[in-house]
Amino acid sequence: MNYEAFFADQLDHLKREGRYRVFADLERYAGSYPKAAYHGQQGMRDVTVWCSNDYLGMGQHASVLAAMHETLDKTGAGAGGTRNISGTSHQHVLLERELATLHGKESALLFTSGYVSNWATLGTLAANMPNCIVISDEDNHASMIEGVRHSRVEKRVFKHNDVRDLERQLADLDPARPKIVMFESVYSMDGDIAPIAEICDVADAYNAMTYLDEVHAVGMYGAHGGGISERDNVAHRLTIIEGTLAKAYGVMGGYIAGSAALCDYVRSFSSGFIFTTAIPPAVAAGVCASVKHLKQSSFERERQQDRVRRVRQGLDQLGIPHLDNDSHIIPVMVRNAVRCKEISDRLMDEYGIYIQPINYPTVPRGTERLRITPSPLHSDADIDHLLFALNEIWTKLGVGRSAVVGEGHPLAELCPVVGPLQADPAELGVDSCPFIGDAREGVAQEQVSAPVTTKVTT
Ligand code: PLP
Repeated sequence: MNYEAFFADQLDHLKREGRYRVFADLERYAGSYPKAAYHGQQGMRDVTVWCSNDYLGMGQHASVLAAMHETLDKTGAGAGGTRNISGTSHQHVLLERELATLHGKESALLFTSGYVSNWATLGTLAANMPNCIVISDEDNHASMIEGVRHSRVEKRVFKHNDVRDLERQLADLDPARPKIVMFESVYSMDGDIAPIAEICDVADAYNAMTYLDEVHAVGMYGAHGGGISERDNVAHRLTIIEGTLAKAYGVMGGYIAGSAALCDYVRSFSSGFIFTTAIPPAVAAGVCASVKHLKQSSFERERQQDRVRRVRQGLDQLGIPHLDNDSHIIPVMVRNAVRCKEISDRLMDEYGIYIQPINYPTVPRGTERLRITPSPLHSDADIDHLLFALNEIWTKLGVGRSAVVGEGHPLAELCPVVGPLQADPAELGVDSCPFIGDAREGVAQEQVSAPVTTKVTT
């Protein structure tokens, strides 16, 4: 085999499909979130980041940085080994206590990432409980799927967030078999939220364990940031809650929380926990400060929800199609890989806005999108600039709008940063402009692609 030709050919294939991933070379400015320097082909320029999973900007929070600096100076850089071999630091112990109380559980166990916590925990439990079967939501994250695949146990998939289908699958199984129902609270790409209580009702009826991935919800929901399970007052009903320390908490690492026996079991049997170096103590200390802060402060959560509302309202006014959901994730639907990349490139090159395109296999083909994640630190001016840029690009490229755009749309007032829209359709290279031409008649754009509330089905 010609190995190099094989690699090149596969990469060409990705490029032809428009889903070759190009990293944006960014340098974040601590203290200026969400601004960053972008190192592009034309040199360096400032950009506004609109797609970070550091959802609340905690990666730059003063309390987090102070804890990390202090611990780094006190303990040095690394953990010094696996948790078993000289790698357990006091900071790990404190953080595990903090996470256990966050979810009202007896115990918590740290991992090097959210991915590893899913992979290692699910893989270990499923493989070791005799004749175990896993029942998995069809939209679950790759890390959960890979964990179960690694365990080689039988798996059944239930329709996304469909409690009746879950029940049908469970009713079909031998009551004596150990069962794990695994699902997420906030789904990262569509931003929709699981009916946790109903899923627990069904799982309880069939004596199944419940495994909830709260990666996109911890820090973000609930009075103390305990996630959707705290918000819905159902944390006590879940066997295991899993989370990341890298998104709303702004640093790095993952964990599970559950009973003392369960966490001890995973600690004692999971190769993905035992055989890898622990996260650095300074990282654990930074996360601990972040978790503590978000336990007692709701300001960040509330401000972020306000920003999300404002972006959604603007998109609705402009008829830019986005999935309707109750979370902080705004998927703007483009539904074409090449176009999605082009819009992302234009946002970066022409408007200094960074939103990466989300293409297959992260989402199903035909559901390509821009995934916008407003933070508490995006200003009104940032939002207006984003809406202005999206509107211009939508018009220039003739991308479909989702709704009738009404007469006298106040777009000019939307963008104090860039200024009022003063183009006419001819200048924009399009036949008609929804704000200047047809829209006066209340006529929708020709290419209506998806209603605002379209739900992606996979
Ligand atoms: N679970 C879900 C649902 C995710 O979306 C991700 C990452 O995006 C992970 C787990 C992995 O978390 P981490 O980035 O901490 O590895």
